[in-house]
Amino acid sequence: MEIVRTIAAARAAVARARGGGARIGFVPTMGYLHEGHLSLVDRARERTGYVVVSIYVNPLQFGPQEDFAAYPRDLERDAELARGRGADLIFAPSDAEMYPRREPATQVVPTRLADRLCGAFRPGHFQGVLTVVTKLCHIVQPDMAVFGQKDYQQATLIRRMVADLDWPLEIVVAPIVREPDGLAMSSRNAYLSPEQRRRATALSCGLGRAEAAFAAGERDAARLCALVLDTLAAEPDVRVQYVELVHPDELEPVAVARRGDVLALAAFVGQTRLIDNAILGA
Ligand code: AMP
Repeated sequence: MEIVRTIAAARAAVARARGGGARIGFVPTMGYLHEGHLSLVDRARERTGYVVVSIYVNPLQFGPQEDFAAYPRDLERDAELARGRGADLIFAPSDAEMYPRREPATQVVPTRLADRLCGAFRPGHFQGVLTVVTKLCHIVQPDMAVFGQKDYQQATLIRRMVADLDWPLEIVVAPIVREPDGLAMSSRNAYLSPEQRRRATALSCGLGRAEAAFAAGERDAARLCALVLDTLAAEPDVRVQYVELVHPDELEPVAVARRGDVLALAAFVGQTRLIDNAILGA
């Protein structure tokens, strides 16, 4: 496995692999890797001959009050973990390498799908995400890129961008990897105190209650959301940002639940903002 820090070196490594006949798989991350990220590496390895993992905490997708500076970083550990799962190349650029002129004058601006769910609370976030994913994909030129269902809205926006703009790129979305007690794995879980970590299980627990109710025949979106809200409200240090049942592609709220609809939430546990979701009937 090679670790490169420049765009030129990444392009050269990928060109060599492609010259050898390999299909290129790509897993973009912000690092501080966990089993969720590594499951994406597995997925890419199953389907391509050369797997690139990018590790880059993208300043463009953080709001001014958000955790860009505090975001956990550990390239050495990440490299070991990625190597252990058979990644071929780590691309870990600096900010100067990615944005030599600071904030780029050209960005990818999503329309209505970015106004909902997380986008309603994080203005500019998905513009930052789509811009960096576009840049990274232009650098790596993968045949396939893997994203996690954990960031459902992000994966939906990326899928739509690829379709809308006719990119010759296959997008794969992999299921959420959870801790044994149900908490969705996230680099941000590292911020939680032991007490908050216990309380954070309310997120997946609430979703689980709603999924069980759906399986038992409940179709009223408000009642399904209320099951999640009640579970979260029972935890003192948990503050809900949103709980919504939405259409899987359009992300519009639905009143009557159908199989495949997505129950999505964001909540603060202490100061830490966590997200989770469930695809009903999946
Ligand atoms: P991040 O480093 O948080 O930007 O995430 C990089 C990629 O890993 C994104 O496609 C995420 O959706 C995905 N990811 C993060 N957490 C998980 C998880 N628990 N299970 C599956 N994929 C995940």
